[in-house]
Amino acid sequence: MKNLFIYTFGCKINQYESQIIREKYCLKDFVYVDNFEQADVIIINSCSVTAHADKQCEQIIKKFHAKNEEARIILTGCFAKVSKDKILQKFPFIEILMKEEILKDTEQEIKNFDNHSRAFIKIQDGCNSFCSYCIVPYARNIMWSKPVDKIIEEINNLTNTGYSEIVLTGIHIGKYDKGISYLLSQIYTNINKPFRIRLSSIEVNEITDDLINIMKEEKERFCHHLHIPLQSASDKVLKDMNRKYLSKDFLDKMILLKQNFPDISITTDVICGFPTETDEDFDITYKFLKDNEFARLHVFPFSPRQGTKAYLLKQVYKNGQSKIRTDKLLNLSKELEQSYFNKFAGTVRKAVSLRGNKALTDNYLTIENIEKHSGIFEVEVK
Ligand code: SF4
Repeated sequence: MKNLFIYTFGCKINQYESQIIREKYCLKDFVYVDNFEQADVIIINSCSVTAHADKQCEQIIKKFHAKNEEARIILTGCFAKVSKDKILQKFPFIEILMKEEILKDTEQEIKNFDNHSRAFIKIQDGCNSFCSYCIVPYARNIMWSKPVDKIIEEINNLTNTGYSEIVLTGIHIGKYDKGISYLLSQIYTNINKPFRIRLSSIEVNEITDDLINIMKEEKERFCHHLHIPLQSASDKVLKDMNRKYLSKDFLDKMILLKQNFPDISITTDVICGFPTETDEDFDITYKFLKDNEFARLHVFPFSPRQGTKAYLLKQVYKNGQSKIRTDKLLNLSKELEQSYFNKFAGTVRKAVSLRGNKALTDNYLTIENIEKHSGIFEVEVK
């Protein structure tokens, strides 16, 4: 038997797909090892969401090859897909395999998820929204949705083996072919167990009344948390980004969600330093984020990706501004996070165990120094 090692960059989808690859190859042909220096085959599951992600991947290829020259190094994932020729020129020793060649049977399911109490499952792949800054639609252009019965089977198996929180992930889960609300209703009707579902991320215009109604009906089994990418609150920048909403639409949806779920945690993504973002646009975004009690921000400095429309846009602000804006938003995120946490201090919430004596509440608060529990348990926020 040969030794296999997998290194994963990027999003939850990549983590999920690495687990599928691990389970598939380790069924009969390989033994999984935790040290790349002992591996006969190294698979690098790459990401290409930013130029920094590409650079990190190149560094790891160099390191693995320098320290384990004998190993076959196979590169898969988004970086492999969008930069194949460049990579082969730079690293002639590497083999490139597209994800679809490895994961031929896309309906596969996982049995384990790295020993957390939470398991991510992939329900959908692909995006055709073409936000002007995003390389993903070029790397993952095939739209695919996992059949409802397969998802129910996968959740059933994972909950039977002790996973209490299932995170539904995808590249663009609002594009699930049968509708995310229909999927949720089928899951809740067919699985009658104490477990809970969290959505990894959903676009604001895909939060429908049906979805809100299901969240209300299943308030014990649906986490009071939504991650809704805002990206900018300037309508001009949103238009340049090819995002299909105005900041007012976003605000209206937030108000509606908070009316229905006063404790809901709303987290978001923001891009700083988009080429057409003026100081005034940035101030609009900053104010919007500060005024509307987001629970946490994921802040991304703009990264020009060749092949996207935004790559060709002229930058309207001085060099160095993007970093200043990013730092400002990172500080704001800390303030918002603390203020959301303080609102719940002393209350009791439902949680699942995380690694390292931590617990994660339904409304996405991490509580430290908590003994490991199985299942969903009550925890005081402190
Ligand atoms: S919705 Fe936009 S940001 Fe998200 S993956 Fe699709 S193109 Fe990229």
